[in-house]
Amino acid sequence: MVKRRDILTGAAAVATGGAVLGVLGKDKAPGSHTPKRSELGAPSISKNRRQFRLATSWPKDFPGLGQMPNYFAQALSEMSEGRLEVKVYAAGELVGALECFDATSTGAADMYHAAEYYWQGKSKGFSFFTAVPMGMTAAELMGWIDHGGGQALWDELSAQFNIKSFQAGNTGHQAGGWFKRQINSLEDFKGLKMRTPGLAGEVMRRLGGSAVAISGGEIYQSLQSGAIDAAEWVGPWNDIALGFYREAPYYYSPGFSEPGASLAIGTNLDVWNSLSSADQAMIQHACAHANAYSLGEYSYRNGLALETLKNDHGIVPVAFNDEIMETVGAVCEDVVRELAASDPMTKRIYDSYLTARNASRGWTEISDGGYIAARKVALDKLY
Ligand code: CA
Repeated sequence: MVKRRDILTGAAAVATGGAVLGVLGKDKAPGSHTPKRSELGAPSISKNRRQFRLATSWPKDFPGLGQMPNYFAQALSEMSEGRLEVKVYAAGELVGALECFDATSTGAADMYHAAEYYWQGKSKGFSFFTAVPMGMTAAELMGWIDHGGGQALWDELSAQFNIKSFQAGNTGHQAGGWFKRQINSLEDFKGLKMRTPGLAGEVMRRLGGSAVAISGGEIYQSLQSGAIDAAEWVGPWNDIALGFYREAPYYYSPGFSEPGASLAIGTNLDVWNSLSSADQAMIQHACAHANAYSLGEYSYRNGLALETLKNDHGIVPVAFNDEIMETVGAVCEDVVRELAASDPMTKRIYDSYLTARNASRGWTEISDGGYIAARKVALDKLY
């Protein structure tokens, strides 16, 4: 039971950001779990062999998020024929869940895997490299970062902290969450206590509700006791395991807060600069593999989990109505725009992000959006 609890508590880092710093409570001194050389079978640098210590924000092998760094490590090992090894540390093994950025910055770790919006205490600009409310979908975000100038801004921001980062995982769309009662109008948000983190929490407050940032392991009990009326976590695959549907059966999707949450691998900049261009390229491509591979996994496993929720548990997903979304949308735009005033770097990131989102959405609406609506019309009567 202790292990189970640790898993759920550590999972808090998924979506609560800085609010859960230290929740694991057993943060160890940087380097305390560095493997002994005798365990590695070879020195960490020998014949261009390298071993990288990668600290994560996730419980060990946590479904989805905790697998992403493993996909990266495996791809890098395969491409380099075992020459480039990555030792993945779960939250708390090398450093605490939200200490992996600082550990990588100082070199106590070589790399981290986490969500960039956890670092919004360092710069609000980091939020844009994970997800912002009413922001870009996974594909749109990949487009901006790889093709629309996002990576250069990210490099400039991260270099201030001696880090070089790439996208290395994406959960795809995150649902609106689980509610104990129906949300039919804006009035229904008034007084609503919802577990939802960060920027989405601020949106909830401006709608007249209150936002609670509690760990994943506390959500179920809080719903059961009535401490909260609603909760957002990730999506069907991760949510079904925690049983929220038993206490809060109104499942709203789409959500508006994390339309395609990206995860990142950051590498200590000195380590990065010490690598050959070929090794740098392999790291970049292994990150791209983890990014695409995990996005597909979330899409597939969310689909299976949603079928189970519908067929075995009687859950009928519903959408927020247009009146709600119009107001929520305006509030989201205000909350995100206010980030731009934080500092000049964040303003440049915001401007670039917003330009890309506004340029992308027209096509997404008539392509993915249009096709999905058309497919529903075409298939609903057949199946
Ligand atoms: Ca979430």
